Amino acid sequence: MNIQDVIEALKGKGYVVSYFETKEEAADYLDAKVDGQLVGFGDSETLNSLELFERLSSHNEVWDPQHRPEGMTFNQVGKKVLVTDIYFTSVNGMTETGELINIDSTGNRIGASFFGHDKVYFVVGTNKIVPTIEDAVWRTRNIAASQNCARHGYNTPCATTGKCHDCKSPDRICRALVVHYMKMKYTDMEVVLINEELGL
Ligand code: SF4
Repeated sequence: MNIQDVIEALKGKGYVVSYFETKEEAADYLDAKVDGQLVGFGDSETLNSLELFERLSSHNEVWDPQHRPEGMTFNQVGKKVLVTDIYFTSVNGMTETGELINIDSTGNRIGASFFGHDKVYFVVGTNKIVPTIEDAVWRTRNIAASQNCARHGYNTPCATTGKCHDCKSPDRICRALVVHYMKMKYTDMEVVLINEELGL
């Protein structure tokens, strides 16, 4: 995989692309860029590893279902995120040809990635890049979802076997799959690529 080819493919699909060698450099860039804004987060271990919530909260109003104010439910915070000026999330898979792939169980993460914001940032480690959409879909189930289920202690077969069984478990987290073929119309979107293993 040639990272420059991936960057060009993403640009060809309408995204602004920024590239950093480390998550610290990416966090500095985003911290300087987003100031005095209403900001929303989609659940993301990648964003957690950048400590972006902590950094942006000091000079923006940030809503994140993972950092809920006391007394607020997941859905209440998730609804606020849907209409923030700026939205941050990651992806479960990205193709070398520039498609972005996500799965979701509640829908807050993928729902907010379509519409409702002036700008969306997808913050992505290069470990998420695979050759094709089929590879990315495989990755979402057999790596991202399986490891997430194990991490949360969900009662799904993948949590113990490490591979997808297309389960019917009440704990199933693969409930919707989204492929961003191109940047959405009318919304600025930037892919922040980081040359590190980040997230699941
Ligand atoms: S469908 Fe079920 S078994 Fe497959 S990855 Fe999702 S939660 Fe795990």
